[in-house]
Amino acid sequence: MTYRLNEKLLGLKPYEVITEDCRIRLDANESFIDPGKELRQKLLSAWENIELNRYPDDTYLELREAFGRFYDVDPELVTAGNGSDELIFLIIGCFLKSDDKLLLTEPDFSMYPIFASAYERQTCYVARDNSGNLDIPATIETIRREKASAVLFSNPSSAFSTVTAREKIMYLVDNTDALVVVDEAYMDFSDQSVIKYAANRDNLIVLRTCSKALGCAGIRLGFAVSSPNLARVLSALRSPYNLNSLSATTGSILLSDSEYIKNAVAHILENRKELYEGLKLLETNPAIKKIYPSATNYICISTDYADRIYAELKERSILVRNLKNMLRITVGTKEENQAVIEELRAIIESINNINQSETEERANEERM
Ligand SMILES: *Cc1c(COP(=O)(O)O)cnc(C)c1O
Repeated sequence: MTYRLNEKLLGLKPYEVITEDCRIRLDANESFIDPGKELRQKLLSAWENIELNRYPDDTYLELREAFGRFYDVDPELVTAGNGSDELIFLIIGCFLKSDDKLLLTEPDFSMYPIFASAYERQTCYVARDNSGNLDIPATIETIRREKASAVLFSNPSSAFSTVTAREKIMYLVDNTDALVVVDEAYMDFSDQSVIKYAANRDNLIVLRTCSKALGCAGIRLGFAVSSPNLARVLSALRSPYNLNSLSATTGSILLSDSEYIKNAVAHILENRKELYEGLKLLETNPAIKKIYPSATNYICISTDYADRIYAELKERSILVRNLKNMLRITVGTKEENQAVIEELRAIIESINNINQSETEERANEERM
C-alpha cells in the first residue's frame, strides 16, 4: 500500500531563506541593532527563575501587560503568538470557513497565499495603486463582488514600503462586514496604526511583531490586538502554551524597556535617511527607474536589471532581496549602507556603460 500525499501539498515550496554566508545581509528586514548588550544582563537574571520543568504561565499576562503599557492598549485585547506568522495562520485557518474567500492585495507579503492554500481557502485579489497604497473603494467593491469574508494586508506595505492613512483603513473597517486583518509588522517605523480602534470594532484584528523594529526576530514573538470578543476566540484557538517560557520572558523584558525601543527606532530611521539619500543620487542612472520613499526599515528600487544587480551584489558578498524588477534593501549600519550604495553605484555604472557602447555599435552598424 502507498500513502499518497494530498495534491495541494505536491507543489509547495518552503519559504526561500538564503543560508550562505554573506559579509552584509540586508535581505530579511531584520534590525541591525542587537538588543543583547542592553537586555542580556536583565535576561540572564530573569532566566534564572524560569522553571524549565514546568509549562509556561498560559495566560502570558505579564507579557500582554508589557505590550499593553508600551502600545497603550488594554491587555485584555492582546493575544500573543509564536511570531505573527502563527497568528496569521490561525486567523486564515479558523476564522474563515471552508468555502469562505479571503481577499488579498497585490503585491503583498508572499506568505499570505501560501497559508491560504495550506488551508484550502479561496483567495481573490485587489491591486494596490501605483505607489503601493491600498485602493479603498476598489477593496470595498471587490469584497462585495467576490463575497469575501475577510481581507488581509500589510500596512505599511511589505512590498512597496508605503503607508496607507489610518482614516482610510478605518473607512474600510466601518464600511464592510468582512473581517479586516491589518498586519502592522512595520508600523513602529510609521504613525498610522489603527491599534487603538480595535477595542470597539468586531471586525478588526491588528497584528504586530517583535521581529522588525524591536530587533528580536530570534525570539519569534508576535501579537494580535482585537475586541475582547475576538481576543477570546483567538486565545481559545491557539494551542495551549504556544509561547515558550524563554520567549515570553524575553518579550516582557524587551517591551518594558521603552527607552531601548525608542532609541532603536530613532537609530534605524536615521540610517534609513542616509541610505535613502545615498540611493536617491543613483536615480539619475538610466538603469534605475525609481527609488521608493520608505515608511519601513527597507527601501525598494524599481529596475529592469534586478536579477543582474542582485547577482553582482551577491558576488561581492552583499545580500539584498530580489523581487523581480524590484530590489528590496534593508536598512543596515552606517558602514553596511555605505558599502551597498558604493557597490550598487559601480554595478549600475558598468551596466550603463555596456548599454551605451551597444547603442553606439548599433548606430555605427546602421551608418555602414
Ligand atoms: C516580517 C513580517 C511578518 C513576520 O513576522 P513574525 O512575527 O516574524 O512571524 C509578518 N508580516 C509581514 C508583512 C512581515 O514583513
